[in-house]
Amino acid sequence: MFQIPFEKLKNARRVGIQLPDGLKRYAFEIANEIERRGFEVLISGETSYGACDIDTTILEEVDCLLHFAHTPILSVERVVYVPYFIDYNPRIEIDVPERKIALISTAQYVHRLKDVAEWLRGRGYEVEIGRGSGRIQYPGQVLGCNYSVLRDSKADAVVFIGDGLFHAIGAAIRTKKRVYAFNPLSRTMQEVDVKNFVKKRYFIVSKCVGKNKVGIIVSSKPGQRRMELARRLKEAGEERGVKAHIIYLNNVRAEELFNLSYDFYVNTACPRISYDDSERFEKPVITPQEFEFLIGKRDDIGFDEMSE
Ligand code: SF4
Repeated sequence: MFQIPFEKLKNARRVGIQLPDGLKRYAFEIANEIERRGFEVLISGETSYGACDIDTTILEEVDCLLHFAHTPILSVERVVYVPYFIDYNPRIEIDVPERKIALISTAQYVHRLKDVAEWLRGRGYEVEIGRGSGRIQYPGQVLGCNYSVLRDSKADAVVFIGDGLFHAIGAAIRTKKRVYAFNPLSRTMQEVDVKNFVKKRYFIVSKCVGKNKVGIIVSSKPGQRRMELARRLKEAGEERGVKAHIIYLNNVRAEELFNLSYDFYVNTACPRISYDDSERFEKPVITPQEFEFLIGKRDDIGFDEMSE
């Protein structure tokens, strides 16, 4: 399932392994395989939400950390990324009215986009696969925090290949184009409707109106640490009479904020925390863009995107 890059472990004696929750069940086999080659192994029990989430504590104990299932978005010394690609049939069964489409996908499915494009071209579609910037390794790849592959798109619609709707919703809000989500495992497709998502976000922002004790959250995870942005937001808020403090923590979870007394929070860490986990928090947790909208610095709530 995973090709462990032993050639990159040449100078290592102790090896750490870090897996996302959905793949942690394979830690036992992976650790055995590495131990058999004579290495000492430590398994990270911490979160691994994305390539941004490197376990820097285990890194102090090992010579090399194998970070599984994400593509590199930042370079951290002694961290080796091990990709995880899920194979699927690229002959996707779609029938959409737009003839010019942009293809996007996530790290697990992006390796077959070229084959998907070839198949669709054979069916009369004009297909583009954009190149991203900053954090993006593969053409057509999107992250929940980066849609730069669609920045210069001339397509009339976007087809997302992957599971779940989060990335497809992000693409629809970013491009304002029609987006179709095709799941390559269930072989089903649906058109993405962002109306409810946007309505819910405005509702959450409306709960912050008139409140002026704000916690601005910064995560210490290497690829999520947006301290400069937090400082700018604090300053902008205070210019408009809002008292803001920066709260620094690793995992942004409801229990970590529970004993604090802020009226609402602005999350500068992973955008999924604001979008996907909003119901878990006792107080509203809004994005930097939503905060700027709240204090009158922009006209809409936008979509949170980390460019670097
Ligand atoms: S910040 Fe969030 S969306 Fe971006 S790479 Fe990390 S986990 Fe993924």
